[in-house]
Amino acid sequence: ALTIGIVGLPNVGKSTLFNALTRNQVLAANYPFATIEPNVGVVPLPDERLGKLAEVFGSERLVPATVSFVDIAGIVKGASEGEGLGNKFLANIREADAICQVTRVFSDPDVVHVDGKVDPSSDIETINTELILADLQTLEKAIPRVEKEVKIKKGDPKLLEAMNTAVSILESGTTLFAGAAGAKLDLAEIASLQLMTAKPFIYVFNTDDAGLADQSTQEKLRELVAPADAIFLDAQFESELVELDEDEAAEMLADAGQAESGLDQLARVGFHTLGLQTYLTAGPKEARAWTIRQGWTAPQAAGVIHTDFERGFIKAEVISFEDLIETGSVAAARAAGKARMEGKDYVMKDGDVVEFRFNV
Ligand code: GDP
Repeated sequence: ALTIGIVGLPNVGKSTLFNALTRNQVLAANYPFATIEPNVGVVPLPDERLGKLAEVFGSERLVPATVSFVDIAGIVKGASEGEGLGNKFLANIREADAICQVTRVFSDPDVVHVDGKVDPSSDIETINTELILADLQTLEKAIPRVEKEVKIKKGDPKLLEAMNTAVSILESGTTLFAGAAGAKLDLAEIASLQLMTAKPFIYVFNTDDAGLADQSTQEKLRELVAPADAIFLDAQFESELVELDEDEAAEMLADAGQAESGLDQLARVGFHTLGLQTYLTAGPKEARAWTIRQGWTAPQAAGVIHTDFERGFIKAEVISFEDLIETGSVAAARAAGKARMEGKDYVMKDGDVVEFRFNV
């Protein structure tokens, strides 16, 4: 499964956030293949459609899609030089598919800040600098080899050009994720190098009540990290929220004037950032969201349920979630001409409710 690595300076609230995520983990009963690892939190992707589907089909249980977060402890200044935890830290980041950077915005005189003051933009710069330096080292090692290969006509000149463009972005102090579009760099060309700053980024700003109300500061921070997504949450509040039952939690959220918990926001943004989407299936046993990559075709999507479904794919009967709810049942949707038979080239859309037809 794709994972999102959580990083940040010490004392910004990473553990508080990660503990809240693990308290919010999906029930293993629905996910028999999920292994529980201490530094991985597997959280449900909030999806209100599942409850509505279950009503239509009389499903016994809901099985949401999941998002996996990995706690990557230990970034310090000098990490790119392999000091202390540095090497292990960098190896863990390389394995993650996206990076979630937790940054402290809350002010609390009782919680020491490693640099002596609360300054989100300076914290972000500290961490990004380490990642940028590590990527530059990777490129500096790889470029001479590719240059040689290109000289003897064995290497790919486009790869070499992309690597040099990457160096110039990084030398300007920008992550590849933020700088690629402006420099017309196609990150897919250098994917084999597994550069860390080429991964998609999400920023979590750990904020207290005052900060959550402060729209103008939030706007500035959003601009600072664009095109990455920014989420503002209060990690301590989130950790209290996950201890409550559903009704109490909803009441506490409403009291705080929030439509959705920060953890739910993080799961949704994380899922999207990983380039994932869902399609839906439903029956008397379960209403379920299945995870696929954006752009996948119907047979690929079928393969997520079972490889036989992909191999023996004939067609997919697809009803959009909205049409299904509006008509009230599969039979009614069919009668209204809202059920489509799609073939093997069909590209799945988010919210497709699907039944696959296949040969075994
Ligand atoms: P980590 O080192 O980044 O993992 O940070 P921790 O999660 O251990 O948090 C460091 C300290 O800050 C702990 O004492 C937390 O209770 C406190 N803390 C975490 N989040 C918040 C918050 O949103 N507000 C306040 N006031 N304190 C927090």
